[in-house]
Formats: sequence, structure tokens, C-alpha cells
Amino acid sequence: MHILKFGGTSMSDAKTWQQVIDIISRYESPIVVVSATARTTRELIKAATTALDDIEEARSIAADIKQRHNKLVTEFLNDHQNKTPLIENCSTWIDQHIEELNTQLDAINDEQELTEQEKDAVASIGEKLSSYLFAQCASAAGIATQWIDAADIIRTDSDFGQANPDEDYIANQAASLKEQVVKGKIPVMGGFYGMDENGHTTTLGFEGSDYSASLVGAALDAETIEIWTDVSGIYTCDPRFVPEARPISQLSFQEATELAYFGAKVLHPSTTKPASKKQIPVWVKNIFEPDEPGTCISTESTNGGPVKAITYKENCTILTVTSSQTVMGYEFLAGVFDILRWHHLAVDVVTTTEASVSIGIENGANLDDAIEQLNGYGSVDVLNNQGIISLVGCNSDKFLVEDILSQVKNVPQNLISYSKSKGNLNLVVSKDQVLPVVKDIHQKLFS
Ligand code: ASP
Ligand code: MG
Repeated sequence: MHILKFGGTSMSDAKTWQQVIDIISRYESPIVVVSATARTTRELIKAATTALDDIEEARSIAADIKQRHNKLVTEFLNDHQNKTPLIENCSTWIDQHIEELNTQLDAINDEQELTEQEKDAVASIGEKLSSYLFAQCASAAGIATQWIDAADIIRTDSDFGQANPDEDYIANQAASLKEQVVKGKIPVMGGFYGMDENGHTTTLGFEGSDYSASLVGAALDAETIEIWTDVSGIYTCDPRFVPEARPISQLSFQEATELAYFGAKVLHPSTTKPASKKQIPVWVKNIFEPDEPGTCISTESTNGGPVKAITYKENCTILTVTSSQTVMGYEFLAGVFDILRWHHLAVDVVTTTEASVSIGIENGANLDDAIEQLNGYGSVDVLNNQGIISLVGCNSDKFLVEDILSQVKNVPQNLISYSKSKGNLNLVVSKDQVLPVVKDIHQKLFS
């Protein structure tokens, strides 16, 4: 069994839908997980936030989403012999979901409040549309699909916006997907969303469809989990900004997780977790170049060059907290991290001295609140406009110290952390230095 996940760009128009169908047809018993069509999740969130003060504008975003989906379906089914009832069926589905969206938007406007729960309900509409419509159109194009509501499979807790899956429950529910496969059907489900035990829609966080695919793959002991996207795998660096970047043929689960976590946009950071537990290889492949090898992520870690890849985050802050005398040394660090935990802030880079700790952290909505609370705990020094550069899969510390650090010796390093066992080197530099430094290091390592 193979889990095939197709992202937003693969779902964008009638042409890419056909490409996706051609890829699905190459497999004997696939299960398909799809994202919302390109831009839709972002538009939905925009509609929800706009609804707070401009309901007319919010409704016009909803109308645009409706129009785009109707157009996509009509275009795809244009040459189909029996297109009228098929298009009617799809347009009823679209109407129902846009109506549901408008009801949500009105509620947001009436209550003058947008909760995380409402945001999830709105955001999930993208995948509810794309998965059902794609399943209908793919059936019309000759592959026997069965639409599956992800809410029936992906059970999560109620941590809206970033819900945590219940893997045992999912393993049970996933049996129904297998039943469809046995009947000769190709299950098609939306990624990204699920449901909590109270029947409320939840989401797995931004770009969460990859994670959904991995959860389903692990639940079914799939042979492979394949993330089909618009680039030929995971690259040595972001090819949009570093044109010399090239695809990496092989990464370990650990390396791929680090890359995703430290900013590489190809994969949701949690994707590798369920797959690595079951040791199922995760492939990243390109729908436009399906015969290119792509990247294989598995338990193996091949020794290529001294570093596998470079990634970066540009919107970061360094917090340096210095203990006030009243806090004992051993309590100090625990206290600082407790405050960060409370505000759901994940630490990217950390160094400590006896009485202080410096933390590199990605800017987030809760950062200001956390700083305020930390201020009551010790003195806090805030350095804004920072970026974190991460070298992943380092296997030569001599090389790193001599070559990388000397390469960047003219750029002030605001924080450095290196873990030999994890093969990770993180440098924090000012935001405007991030791209030039990344390009320099990439050139040095990969040219
Ligand atoms: N559509 C969702 C998002 O953009 C999930 C995904 O595409 O992975 O976050
Ligand atoms: Mg993606």
C-alpha cells in the first residue's frame, strides 16, 4: 500500500489534477491525501479575520473561493460525455460548504471574536472542498475513488490550530480505508484537518496535510509515504533563493525533521514522526518531473559531503535572561523554560552561563507576553531582527570549525550552538545577513 499526498500546487487547476491522476494510475493500491487547492487555506483564514470588521469583504472572499472551485470542476469535466449531472453534484457540494463558511463568517462578525476553534472550522473547508471534488473528477476520469471524510479517520485532542493526533484511534479507523482498497477503490481524503472527541473540527497546523499522510501511512503499515510537490525533493538549500541548490537523494528521519523544523518549507516538521516509528520510507517527489528520483527519507543516513543541507529562519529574536539574585541557579533554567512552555514557544538555539541563558526563538504571537512574564523572573535583554541559519547532517566537526566559522568570520555571530551527536550547527546572525551568509556557506560546501 502506498500513501500519496498531493499539495496545494498539485491541486491548483484542471491540468495539474490530470497530472495527479496520471501519477495515481501508476500505483496498484494507493491511498490519496490532498491539500486544499492553491491559496485556498490562506484565503479562508483571511476571510475569517476580515469578518471581524468587514463582513461584506469577508463574504466576497468566500464568493471568490466558490467561483474558483466551480471553474476548476467545469474545466476539468468539460470534455466529459456525461458532464451535466457531475458538475451539478460538485456545485451542490461547493454551495453547501460556502454556505457553511458564510454562516461561520456571520457568527465571527456577530460575536466580534475569532476563536482558534472557529479558525479551524473555517480553514478545514479548503480540504473538504478539494478532496471531495477531486475524488468525483478522478472517478469521472476513470479511476475508481471513494471520498473519505478525514474527520472519520484523524482523531485529535482539542488543541485547536495545532491539534495532536490520537494514533491508536487513527490506527483503528484506518482499517476502513483498507476495506475500500480491498474493494478495488482508491480512498481520497483531505489532509490537514481532523476531529476531536466532542465532534469539533481541528487542524494539525500549517501545512499539516503531510502529517495526515504520514499518520495514515503509519496506521496502515504502508510500503511508502510519498509527498508529491512541485520540486524534485528536498534541496541542499531553498532553490528559490540559492539557485545552485540541488536535490538531496537521501536523508535520515532525524535530518529531515531538523531541516523541516529549522525552516525548510517542503515538509511539515511532524511528518517524519509516525513514519520513523514504523520505519516507513518517506519520499518527496515532483508531479511535474515524476521520473526524477526525488528524496528518500528513511532510517539510513548516507555519508555524502560534510553537511547535508542548509536552512534558515528569518524572523527570530534572541532573549537573554539574567537571573535575579533571589532565584537559585538550579531553579532558574527550569523557570525560564516553564514560561516558554506556558506560551507554546519552541526554543531553537540555546546557550547558558552560570546566571544567564540566551535563547534564539522564532517570532510568534505569544512572544511579547512571554517576555513580559520573563521580566518578572530576571532581567531580559531582547535582540530583535535576528535570523537562524542551520547546517543539518554535519559529520565533520574539524571541517565545521575551520571552514564554516572562518567563512563567516566577518559577520557578527550573535549565538552559536553545535551538537556533534545530532550533526547540527546553528548560527544566529542579524536578519539582513542571513541570505548572504547562507549563499556563502552553500557555495563553500556544495560548489
Ligand atoms: N492547506 C493546509 C495549509 O496550507 C494544509 C496543507 O496544505 O498541507 O496549511
Ligand atoms: Mg507542503
